Amino acid sequence: MSRPKEPRVRIEPGCIVCRACEQICPEVFEVTEETSLVRPDADFSEPERVQEAAAACPVEVIRVAAPGSR
Ligand code: SF4
Repeated sequence: MSRPKEPRVRIEPGCIVCRACEQICPEVFEVTEETSLVRPDADFSEPERVQEAAAACPVEVIRVAAPGSR
C-alpha cells in the first residue's frame, strides 16, 4: 500500500551503530547489533524528528526523500 505523504527513509551502508537515530526518533529507527533499520511499522507522524535524526547521524547514512520527490 502506498502512502505518498510519508517521507521515504533509507539507511545506506556504513552505520556505526551509535544509536543516535533511535534515541531521537524510536518510532522510525530501530538499531540492531549491526545496523540501524527503518521499522516496518514506522510512524512518520513527526517528520521533523526523522530529519533531526538524519542530521544527527555522525556518518550521514540516513537518507530522507521528501514526500512526493523522486
Ligand atoms: S545515527 Fe547513523 S550511525 Fe548512528 S545508529 Fe543511526 S544510522 Fe547508524
